[in-house]
Amino acid sequence: MKNDPQKSGSDNTSQLTNRLRELELFTEVIPDGVLIFNTQLLIEAVNESAQALLGLPEACVGQLLSETINVPRLNNYLNASSEQEPLEFSSPVVKDATLEARLFQVDESTKVMIVRDITTLNRLLTMRQSFVANVSHELRTPLTVVKGYLETLVDEGTPTELRLSLIGKLKAPVRRMESLVNDLLLLTQLESTPVPPEMDNVDMVTLIDNACAEVQGLIGENDSLTTNYQTDRIIKGVPSELNSVCTNLISNAIRYSPSGASIEVLWKEGPRGKARLEVRDQGLGIAKEHLDRLTERFYRVDMQNSRSRGGTGLGLAIVKHVLRRHNSELQVQSEPNRGSVFFCDFDCLYSPK
Ligand code: ADP
Repeated sequence: MKNDPQKSGSDNTSQLTNRLRELELFTEVIPDGVLIFNTQLLIEAVNESAQALLGLPEACVGQLLSETINVPRLNNYLNASSEQEPLEFSSPVVKDATLEARLFQVDESTKVMIVRDITTLNRLLTMRQSFVANVSHELRTPLTVVKGYLETLVDEGTPTELRLSLIGKLKAPVRRMESLVNDLLLLTQLESTPVPPEMDNVDMVTLIDNACAEVQGLIGENDSLTTNYQTDRIIKGVPSELNSVCTNLISNAIRYSPSGASIEVLWKEGPRGKARLEVRDQGLGIAKEHLDRLTERFYRVDMQNSRSRGGTGLGLAIVKHVLRRHNSELQVQSEPNRGSVFFCDFDCLYSPK
């Protein structure tokens, strides 16, 4: 911590010097900026973090803050006499970074200012707010539908025939809410639990067969879903998680293809000794500008289209998390109106043959 040389020169007992050195070391290792001001609000001491965060010049000790950096809001904050809430302000050094300053009156002659970078914290808060807003919005739509049906059902004047048909129609919005809650729970579980230390040996051929059987209900009369196994390599993994990768990718391929779709699921040799899971469709395809954002929660290329096709907007976010836990990542090649290839490579254990 840089401080006023005259003042530290006057402290000459070795005990005090040692104590000061300890304090100095302490302020140098903390990532928060620390500035000490005297009665005239001249800078008496600063640590390295404060210099880096605020872009303070080397020779700032003994000067007014306003003489060293041009941040009028921070200067007004320092000069205000009353106790104040922490101040949020734009970093004078890093574009788009946000800093927070807190001021403490230590005694009549000394003020201490702590400055920290809150850019990441702010970003996380914004993400949390938009996540909650998205979930509420996603639940509100089917809830409104259920509410409307129930109001008609309890109306004594509603004919029995209409009542019966409304009861049947209740299933779709309820199923929608159920899928959303299930996906949310799975995503939370993936984020909050560590990867199991002992993963199972997974036979991907059997796993893909089971996933195809699970999504049978989505396949239309004219659609075709085929498997193409070019390898029988075994991988280490969590079967239930890998199953959700397969069902999400295959059901997306079906849902984003017009009737008469032809979908192929491949398990084959990948690059660098890995094995590749690949799901190919000849459906709607995706324009280039959306590709990087597909795995963000609730990101959809076409909101209306996704909802009407029964999507929760969380499928690929789940896929991303599972793959990360399996040392893999999702890759996509796609062209609008020509179709998409979603694939990922896995480290292999062995081939059973
Ligand atoms: P959703 O539940 O909306 O399908 P996902 O996370 O599974 O959510 O997918 C995100 C978005 O990616 C979808 O809304 C859709 O726009 C696009 N998408 C995913 N898979 C495909 C595909 N096979 N073909 C075209 N678009 C796709």
